[in-house]
Amino acid sequence: MTEPNNNYDLVIIGSGPAGFTAAIYAVRGGASTALFGGVAPGGQLLQTMEIENYPGFVDPVVGADLMQKMLKQTERLGAKVFQDSITEADLSARPFKLKSSSGRDYTARALIIATGAQARWLGLPSEEKYKGKGVSGCATCDGFFFRGKDVAVIGGGDSAAEDALFLTKFANKVYLVHRRDKLRATFRLVEKLKANPKVEIIYDHIPEEFTGEAKLTAVNLKNVKTGEKRSLAVGGAFIAIGHSPATGLVKGKLKLTEDGYIAADDRTATSVPGVYAAGDVMDTRYKQAVVAAGAGCKAALEALAFIEEGDVHS
Ligand code: NAP
Repeated sequence: MTEPNNNYDLVIIGSGPAGFTAAIYAVRGGASTALFGGVAPGGQLLQTMEIENYPGFVDPVVGADLMQKMLKQTERLGAKVFQDSITEADLSARPFKLKSSSGRDYTARALIIATGAQARWLGLPSEEKYKGKGVSGCATCDGFFFRGKDVAVIGGGDSAAEDALFLTKFANKVYLVHRRDKLRATFRLVEKLKANPKVEIIYDHIPEEFTGEAKLTAVNLKNVKTGEKRSLAVGGAFIAIGHSPATGLVKGKLKLTEDGYIAADDRTATSVPGVYAAGDVMDTRYKQAVVAAGAGCKAALEALAFIEEGDVHS
């Protein structure tokens, strides 16, 4: 085992279920392990209110609570968790050289990239203009400020459905604006939406422009089938149109898929020996917490084998 003095057997970047599970397995496997979790460890689940499909919890668990448990479990087992981010990674030679946002240098004999995904935006200029002035990418962070107001959620997946349901706790009315005539969200969430009198689903519409004065007052929508336009008077608009893999750190260093995910094989190995990828940063299909945790486990077992073999791979 390499002594931790900033030189670790294994460094894991990312603090979602993939990263924490990898750390739990790695440290139990005898590797000196550091996990870089950014300033607020927990990943996307920090913004999920109720998780009822993660095994082991009889009642729904709040995302932030689940992640806190994973963090504590990881630390109890002896992994070092840094509230810091890796900003530079030299993967051209082993041990890999890493630099953190606080300016410290680290080395790793093996590396697991579990950086997850970042929220996508519509890309409208007016969206940019009203960010923080009514347009938000995080209902759980900002919902509280919209007490008594009418708000819109853009999107038709589980995130949009969850955001809409969460916002009914504060808002007077919640419009769910979806670009198709069928929601992508799971059956159970769709049933909850339909049963909630505060929610109105607007199908077949896309936002064209966010308008207002100092703050957002309306979103202009277009019916994608008829071309008809309408203005929706809202004080808040929450964008929940999915996520893109967070690959900024490794772009040009690891092979990516056409869609921009880290290309990894069934054993989570990337194009660079000793570098593994787990979770939403490489999952083109499932994007579930439990799948990410499973991939984290695989990545750690592969990294342990790699370290044990003495980095002999070419
Ligand atoms: P998602 O499932 O990819 O859904 C994105 C939604 O946004 C889709 O309805 C999509 O429309 C719409 N969309 C995409 N681009 C758009 C655009 N430019 N303009 C308008 N609408 C656009 O993403 P997600 O909801 O963030 O969920 C990601 C994954 O996490 C899923 O696998 C989901 O099951 C999981 N998740 C689970 C939970 C939970 O279990 N509690 C909570 C949140 C997320 P189309 O339908 O037409 O493609």
